[in-house]
Amino acid sequence: MADTSKPATHGRRIALKAGVAGALAAPLVARAQQSFSWKMTSAYGKGAPFYMDGPGSATDLAKRIETMSGGRLKIQVFGAGELIPALEGFDAVRAGTVEMNHANSYFWTGKTAAAQYFTAVPFGLNFQGINGWLYDGGGQALWDEVYAPFGLKGMACGNTGVQMTGWFKKEIKSVADLKGLKMRIPGLAGRVYAALGVDVKLLPGGEIFPALERGVIDAAEFVGPFQDRKLGLHKAAKYYYTTGWHETATVSELLVNKAAWDKLPADLKAIVENAAAACNVISEAWCQRTNAEAMEDLVKNQGVIARPLPADVVKKLRETTATVLAEAVAKDAMTKKVHESYMAYMKKYVDWARYSEGPYHDVVLGI
Ligand code: CA
Repeated sequence: MADTSKPATHGRRIALKAGVAGALAAPLVARAQQSFSWKMTSAYGKGAPFYMDGPGSATDLAKRIETMSGGRLKIQVFGAGELIPALEGFDAVRAGTVEMNHANSYFWTGKTAAAQYFTAVPFGLNFQGINGWLYDGGGQALWDEVYAPFGLKGMACGNTGVQMTGWFKKEIKSVADLKGLKMRIPGLAGRVYAALGVDVKLLPGGEIFPALERGVIDAAEFVGPFQDRKLGLHKAAKYYYTTGWHETATVSELLVNKAAWDKLPADLKAIVENAAAACNVISEAWCQRTNAEAMEDLVKNQGVIARPLPADVVKKLRETTATVLAEAVAKDAMTKKVHESYMAYMKKYVDWARYSEGPYHDVVLGI
């Protein structure tokens, strides 16, 4: 009730103050109450270690976002085949069927060749280097530019670290031993092997072990010691070549529908970006420990012969990679732009690594 004993001017001043405060507060209150319920699909099956289960995985990412947002952004996670087939995430997010997909951008090289650079380039950057390029070297802005015509946004949300060359039934002594070899290996590295006479096969994770065991293939690449052992690949082949030339640090991608992204308030956008960056680091940390433990077991207890590829094979793979990349760059202006940024950053990174990481590794390895 108004106090009529007070002067009219005072009452008007209070009313004005309340009006201004109310006008400012109303949208803030409305925004704070706005909540979102999203779906995220994955290229990997339910329970797949690293991708779907464990620290920094898709399920962990969704949980972190929900917790940090106080439940304002809930994300339901679906493994491959639960809502859509494994590799249809790009189209599903683009169409808005789901708001997010968790996979690797190199699955989308059929849509845009430049997507390769946001996962891994043969003889490319390591974990530190790729993060440097993405977060501090213009890589993220290029990722946004590459995906803008598709109405998508991508960001790093995980990393396996360096992967292994893979499993071979027979010893590889020279480039000649690759000729006619039937090998499971996806992506750009598969094109490099194919140029050297390898009969490249594309098989999903679950089909690798039976094919290798039955001799349908002679060799197989998957990820690294922990995940490869989980598939049982050491029971089908004993030579484990370690040189991670083909996937030097493999980035997991959080793919987001741009129209849905634009509807998120700034604080929820920040939560998604920061949760993805956290999972990027946390998942790689998990890989370091689990791979170290698995490799020790494979070598000590499972009779696995783990060794780097011979130097002449690496040299030939490097030369062929340069040719394959040059072909991709010549075909597409956007790929050229991304390639030039990546390689310019890599030159800086490697120049500095000659003073920093290189000598450090020599010290640690006792060289
Ligand atoms: Ca791989």
